[in-house]
Amino acid sequence: MPEPRKRVLLAKPRGYCAGVDRAVQTVEQALDLYGAPVYVRKQIVHNLHVVRALEKRGAIFVDENHEVPEGSIVVFSAHGVAPEVHEQAAARGLKAIDATCPLVTKVHQEARRFAKDDYDILLIGHEGHEEVVGTSGEAPEHITIVDGPQSVTGVEVRDPERVVWLSQTTLSVDETMQTVDALRERFPLLQSPPSDDICYATQNRQAAVKTIAPEADLFLVVGSANSSNSVRMVEVALAAGARAAHLVENAEAIDASWLTGVTTVGLSSGASVPEILVHEVTDWLAARGYDEVREVAHTEERLAFALPQELRRDLRAATSGR
Ligand code: SF4
Repeated sequence: MPEPRKRVLLAKPRGYCAGVDRAVQTVEQALDLYGAPVYVRKQIVHNLHVVRALEKRGAIFVDENHEVPEGSIVVFSAHGVAPEVHEQAAARGLKAIDATCPLVTKVHQEARRFAKDDYDILLIGHEGHEEVVGTSGEAPEHITIVDGPQSVTGVEVRDPERVVWLSQTTLSVDETMQTVDALRERFPLLQSPPSDDICYATQNRQAAVKTIAPEADLFLVVGSANSSNSVRMVEVALAAGARAAHLVENAEAIDASWLTGVTTVGLSSGASVPEILVHEVTDWLAARGYDEVREVAHTEERLAFALPQELRRDLRAATSGR
């Protein structure tokens, strides 16, 4: 009997979301407009390839504002920052450009509004993740972080009739709903956010993975280990029936032994991953006989965000001055 044809099922959508695209463009355009160096607080997006490429162009990545020389330009990452980070930047005379994804900003606004109405806010998310740190900083005295269903038993609130849940934007949709169900068992009057906090890009990438996973002997997700949405995609692939799944930074990180007995490879990439890294993986697989690549589309994405207004204003001024 002939061997079954080795193939790759490529998930769509994958890779860059609108928020990452905007954040990377923000640093690129800031470098063009103001010249190097441009300081960036934290990784602009959680992908090493992107960070290294921007470093080559003159971006300097720092952990905190105090590492940025007074009067310099600093870009805040897509994950968002607490209000005190803006205050520190102003106190140092930094020119801050805020590349926070507008969908993260929306969660910050929800946190402020519910805190103003004196709710206890149960923020479902990963303790220590930059986005969670930033959102919590909007109303620290009102927010309790709930890091998955296993954390629900320890949650305390002041008034069980005035509780709302919000979430990090890049969680597993299914696991988040399990956490909400467990919270609701403890607090039956728990309110939901006015709209989905888990963003469209996270939801679409997970749904596309689920479509392919049942057919995949091996599922590869291209992404960095600190990228929450990429890590969640590996978990989703396994839960949806992939026989094995791995997160890989790039083609070099693939272990050839994973291909033993594999006919169908599922492939996708996290929201902070440039497409070139996916091409390198398909080339790597093709060199090992997986030369049939079929894209499986779950949905089309057309969303795009305008650059931060402080940058747009300076770009306009530079153009009109020419
Ligand atoms: Fe924005 Fe979602 Fe992309 Fe995060 S993953 S930057 S919230 S669009």
